[in-house]
Formats: sequence, structure tokens, C-alpha cells
Amino acid sequence: MRQVVMYKPGDVRVEQRPDPTIVEPADAIIRLAATCICGSDLWPYRGAEPVDHQVMGHEYVGVVEAVGSEVRTVKVGDFVVGSFWASDNTCEICRAGYQAYCVHRVLMGTIGTQAELARVPLADGTLVATPGRPDPELIPSLMAASDVLGTGWFAAVAAEAGPGKTVAVVGDGAVGLLGVLAARQLGAERIIAFSRHADRQALAREFGATDIVTERGDAGVERIKELTGGLGAHSVIEAVGTQEAMMQAIHSARPGGHVGFVGVSHDVAIPGDVLFMSGVHLHGGPAPVRRFLPELIRLIWDRTIDPGKVFDLTLPLDRAAEGYQAMDQRAATKVLLTL
Ligand SMILES: [Zn+2]
Repeated sequence: MRQVVMYKPGDVRVEQRPDPTIVEPADAIIRLAATCICGSDLWPYRGAEPVDHQVMGHEYVGVVEAVGSEVRTVKVGDFVVGSFWASDNTCEICRAGYQAYCVHRVLMGTIGTQAELARVPLADGTLVATPGRPDPELIPSLMAASDVLGTGWFAAVAAEAGPGKTVAVVGDGAVGLLGVLAARQLGAERIIAFSRHADRQALAREFGATDIVTERGDAGVERIKELTGGLGAHSVIEAVGTQEAMMQAIHSARPGGHVGFVGVSHDVAIPGDVLFMSGVHLHGGPAPVRRFLPELIRLIWDRTIDPGKVFDLTLPLDRAAEGYQAMDQRAATKVLLTL
């Protein structure tokens, strides 16, 4: 099969690799219907994380091609969506809704889903079957559910977005934009998106943003204060992972407010005195996307939401290197790879 491999920062290739096989009795093999490039794939691409001949990709939708002897809930021919952590969905941590921390978890990025086929461990717990074969136009949205939508949704839940709330969203990448969509679905009254890119501002508005703030850092915080009677937002989504973004998020929240942080943290250090004096709740980390998948699939299937709009560039898998380049240069928000 063909698979994307990152040799070193900036060097992405598509190679022939052996087809995956069932290793454990709880495994399934899926044939991907599409795959995509994640904002977090840019960290190794830019040299901010070590990388050496690494298989890439952790988002996936596709058709089950084989199952191990213990697999019960999915069968050959099912169209399935899974998340970036394989999880048993039965341990105490999973049952509490924190499948990203399952005691048996397996990181799908170590398997690599930018490929024609992928082995999915713990298939019963990890995979959620759709009600039938999706129409082709639903595939980008189901793909988004695998990570960016689920992650944005968790951020909005962690930030306690809901009726009567003002939600501020730091980060206008795919996760931030889908955090806007999630906040709207959860009933937020006002949604303020930080963005300085016209195309992303337009999509944020389409997804439900009521206000756009172009300033960043302290100036951005000042704008949030002005828009909220000096108080700050009830809920803030942090979807970047840098020091500036985290501090902007904490300072944008009102005392007693909630910050949901899902940007993969890189060199973030929160000063203890700032945290102490802020009076905000912080919750986040790797999103337990599996918790939300059944509901997200239903909303997509019913065409209530269209998160697939975050994909603004579609390329065949063989041109993955161009996709990485486009996202690195911010020429694309998110790239769908077709097979
Ligand atoms: Zn578990």
C-alpha cells in the first residue's frame, strides 16, 4: 500500500509499504475513504518536534476490511469513524468520558493513517459505524469528526460553552473554527473569534461567530474586555498551544470563567501568580473525541452541521508533500487527501 512518511523536517514522501495485518484479536483493518493532514503534523514538519522516517497521520474514516477474532461491534463492510487514540471504551477512565487516557490506549499516529490501509487496535471500543454508506459529500465532515471537530467540541465543553454564555475562541485554524461551530451548537449566546485572515473570519461567521477580533495578545484581551462590559468572556477556547495564545486565553476569561485548552502545548509556562490571581477554571489536553463521536456522526448524518467546510484544499494522497507545504505556508487551513 501507499503511505506517507516524514523523513525529516520538511521532507514528506509517499512510499510503498507492506499492507497491515491483524496483529491482536481486537484489531480491525480499515481501507481509508480519505485521510488528512493535521495542524499538529506541522510541529515535526517545522522541526519543533523530532522526526525520523516517521509514518504520519492519525485521522481516519473508511470501510472495515478485516476484523480479529474478538471484534464484536463492527464488521467487515461497515463504514467507520475513529479517533486519534484507540481506546477500549470499557475501562474506568473511558467510562468517565476520558477515552484519550484509556488504560489500554494506542496512539494512532504511531500506526500512521495517511495511507491506503490502517490497523486499528481495540476496534470495538475505538470505531463507531455510521448508519450506512455515506454519500460522498459527507466524507469530509465525517473526516473532520475524527479529530478537529471532536477536539473543538471538547474544547467548547471544557470551556462550559452554553446558553447565555459569551465564548471567545483563540486560534483560527481548523480546531478553533470548529470550536466556534461547537459553541454555537451548544447554545452559546455570543461567540467572539480571534482572527486576522479574511477567509477564516468568513468561515468563523458561517459557523456561528457573532464578533471578530483582529488584535492579539494584550490588545486582543482589551478588545474582549470592551465587548463584555469589562468582565471578560465566560468561556474561552484555546486552540493554538503557544505561550501567547494560552496567556491570551486566560486573560480573556472573567473570574470564575472556564478555559478549554486543546492546542498542543509547546513551551507554555503559566506563571503561578497569574494563574492564582485569574480565578479561572482550566481544563483541556488531548481531546477524548470518542466520547462525542456518536453525537457528531448523527449531527453530520442529519446534515445539521457541515464541519467538512474546514477543508479548503483537496489533493490525492500521492501529492501529500504539497499539502504539508500549503498548510505550513498557511495557504490552506486543512488539507483533505483522497485515495
Ligand atoms: Zn479504556
